[in-house]
Amino acid sequence: MQGPVSKHSGSVSQIEPKIAAKLAKQSYHLVGEHGGVKVCHWTKQDLTKGRHCYKGTFYGIESAGCMQMAPNVDTCNLACTYCWREPHSATLHKIDDDPLELFYESVRAHRRLLTGYKGHKDVLLEDWERAQDPKHVAISLNGEPTLYSRLGEFLEVCHDHGVSTFLVTNGSLPKVIENLDPLPTQLYVSVDAPNKELFNKLCKPKFNQNAWEMLEETLALLPSLDTRTVCRHTLIRHESLGHHEDYARLDNIADPNFIEAKGYVYVGHSQKNHTIDNMPAHTEVMEFAHNLASLVGREVLSDRRESRVALIGHEMIPITLPEKVRDLPRDLGIAKPQHYPLPQA
Ligand code: SF4
Repeated sequence: MQGPVSKHSGSVSQIEPKIAAKLAKQSYHLVGEHGGVKVCHWTKQDLTKGRHCYKGTFYGIESAGCMQMAPNVDTCNLACTYCWREPHSATLHKIDDDPLELFYESVRAHRRLLTGYKGHKDVLLEDWERAQDPKHVAISLNGEPTLYSRLGEFLEVCHDHGVSTFLVTNGSLPKVIENLDPLPTQLYVSVDAPNKELFNKLCKPKFNQNAWEMLEETLALLPSLDTRTVCRHTLIRHESLGHHEDYARLDNIADPNFIEAKGYVYVGHSQKNHTIDNMPAHTEVMEFAHNLASLVGREVLSDRRESRVALIGHEMIPITLPEKVRDLPRDLGIAKPQHYPLPQA
């Protein structure tokens, strides 16, 4: 079934109807052929309560001005057991949307999803109006974004509009990272296992059995990249929590600007693979962080208990927004409502 066609997008969602229906039920707005936008919990918290996410604390991100999206919400090359998202398509789709249209379509979708906050009793109108023009794009909603063949161009479009970019990758495509131009404002590599054995058990590569070696290759690239880099460890009690020396070996290869130690959260689809006992307490995350910090010659700079996360590094440096060289079209408008019913069995 074909999805709606918008003024700023010739593309029609090609996401399999069953997956599209599930994502729409989870408040995704689909954009491009395989992309999607979803308003983050913290964007809502910042608009209604002035509380921002841990990236606000660590890097100065304005959560109310953040747009959470992905160019391919149905496509990933790993099947991580701790991933809260719905299972992805079994097919590795070609993702090559026009980057400018994908950006505009995403902003229109974000505005559609924020309509309910206009006139909200706890939201100032000027805050809602400001949120219509995102200052930050978190390319982390779902799927592996380095599978998007025009990712560099998309980053350039965002930066040209004065919008910073956080790109989260599983690091399985080092050649894409090596040739990425421009680089994102901040590049996250998910390093969610201390060694190959646990990586294959927890990250379950779907198409490439050398995914661990690919991740190591990506980590070895990081010191040469001219942008902010982060290694993030999602820690599962009784599985990947601990192993400090192994993580230190990887982090010393990558030498990132920052390391995030983050506790696994027992939510969504991951509940099929793990139990609540796999969720470490914040005290365990902090203990891990202090142990790791001493092995990589750094210190624990900050933490957020409610997000079970700690920041390891040399010093905290807030991000700066790219210089804006073009404005959003005045007539950009807002995306039409979408409807993706579950296909009849
Ligand atoms: S940076 Fe991430 S957690 Fe923070 S508001 Fe954006 S999407 Fe949410």
